[in-house]
Amino acid sequence: MKNYDVIIVGGGIMGAATAYNLIHDDPNLKVIMIEKDASYQYSSTAISDGNTRVQFNLPENINISLYALEALKTFEEDMAVPGQPNVQLNFRQQGNMFVIDDETSLGYAKQGFKIQREHGAEVEWIEPEDFGKYHPLINGDVCLAATIGPKDGTMSPNDTLQGYKRKAEHLGVEFLEAEVTELLKADGQMTGVKLATGDVLHSSKVLNTTGAWMTPLAATAGIDLPIRSIKREVYSVATDATFDEVLTFVVLPSRHYLHHEGGNHFVIGGASSNDPETTTDFSWNKSKFEEEYWESIIHYAPTFDRLKVLNGWGGLYAVNDFDGNALLGEWPEIKGHYMAGGFSGHGFQQGHAVGRYMADVILGNSDMVIDLSAFSCGRILENKPIFENPARII
Ligand SMILES: Cc1cc2nc3c(=O)[nH]c(=O)nc-3n(C[C@H](O)[C@H](O)[C@H](O)COP(=O)(O)OP(=O)(O)OC[C@H]3O[C@@H](n4cnc5c(N)ncnc54)[C@H](O)[C@@H]3O)c2cc1C
Repeated sequence: MKNYDVIIVGGGIMGAATAYNLIHDDPNLKVIMIEKDASYQYSSTAISDGNTRVQFNLPENINISLYALEALKTFEEDMAVPGQPNVQLNFRQQGNMFVIDDETSLGYAKQGFKIQREHGAEVEWIEPEDFGKYHPLINGDVCLAATIGPKDGTMSPNDTLQGYKRKAEHLGVEFLEAEVTELLKADGQMTGVKLATGDVLHSSKVLNTTGAWMTPLAATAGIDLPIRSIKREVYSVATDATFDEVLTFVVLPSRHYLHHEGGNHFVIGGASSNDPETTTDFSWNKSKFEEEYWESIIHYAPTFDRLKVLNGWGGLYAVNDFDGNALLGEWPEIKGHYMAGGFSGHGFQQGHAVGRYMADVILGNSDMVIDLSAFSCGRILENKPIFENPARII
C-alpha cells in the first residue's frame, strides 16, 4: 500500500511551489506530486506570459505580489541544486502600465493607487499628456490616465516552475507522471487518489492544483466548483516600428495587453467575450485577432495598424465565476481536501505566496508567513464574494 503524508495533484506553479515549501519546512514529510504531462505542453504556467505586477486593489493581492518581488530577489540561489546550473528567470522589470479611459475605471484606479501605496507598493500616476515619457505608442488623447508599477515585469514562467520542481525533488518530493481520475474520501475525510492506471495512492491530505482542469476532478469528490476553463488566445506580432529598449508592458482598457519582446516583436493577448469554455482546445486563429483584437488596439496604439501576425497559441484560464479571485485552503465539508485554483490570468505571479500559504495551511502552522485566509474556500459556501477591481482581472 502506497501511503503519503501529502498528495499533490497537478504539477504547475501552484503544485510545485507548495511541494517545495512543504519539504523545505519538514524534510521528513512523504510528499508526492502527480502531473499528467511532464512535458507541461498545455500547463497554463508554462505557456503564460510570465508577468508580475503590484497593481491590484485588494490588499491581499497586493501583498501576494510584494511577497513575490521579495522571493524573486533570491529565487535563483534559493532553488540551486548541487552539480546543476542555477535556473535563469531573466526577470526584467520593464514596468506595467494600466491605461484608463472611462470614469468608472478611473475611480477604481484611484482607489487602487492609494491602497497600493499604503501597502508599500511602488506605483506612479500618469496624466495623458505625459504618456509619451513612459510609452511611445499609447495615444494619450483617447485616455484619461494611466498607472505604472515600475517594479512590475516579466520572466520565464517555465524556468520558475522548473526551479521549484527541481528543488522540491532534490529535497525529497516524489514526482509521478500519471493522471489522477478520482479523489477518494470516506466519512468526510480524504483517503487518497485513484490513477488512470487503476492504482490507488493513500493520504489523508490531498491538494488539488490542477488549474483549468480542477472542477471536473473536484466533482469526483462531490464538490461543485464555480471555476470554468476558458481558452484565451495570444499572438506574436511584428510591427513596422522597432525599439532598442524593451518597452513597458501595457494593459489597455479593452483588456488586451501589449508585451514588447524586443525590437519590433510584441506578444498581444487578452480576453474576448466569446472565448470558449474547453479543457482540450489549444488552437489559435489569426482571424480572431483581426476581428476581435486589432481595431481596439489601433484605437489606443495607432502604430499597430501595420503589423504581421507571426504566430500564436491558445492557453487556459481557470476563471472563478463566483468572484474572480483565487480559492485557497481546505474545503470545509471534507477534511484533508485542499485546493488552490481559480487564478484567471494572474496566477503565475501568485505561485510564490500561494505555495508558501498552502504549505502553512496543510502543515497547520500557526505563524503564517502570509495570511491569505480571505481567499478561503468557505466563502463560497457562506456566499461571501471578495471582488477585485474588474480591470485587474485579466
Ligand atoms: C496565455 C496565458 C497567459 C498568462 N499570463 C500570465 C501572466 O503573465 N502572469 C500571471 O500571473 N499569470 C498568467 N497566466 C495565468 C497563469 O498561467 C495561471 O493562473 C497559473 O499558471 C496557474 O497555475 P496552476 O499551477 O494552477 O495551473 P497549471 O500551470 O495549469 O498546472 C496544473 C497542472 O495540473 C495538471 N493536471 C491537470 N489535471 C490533472 C490530473 N487529473 N492528474 C494529474 N495532473 C493533472 C496539468 O497537466 C497541469 O500541468 C496566463 C495564463 C495563460 C493561459
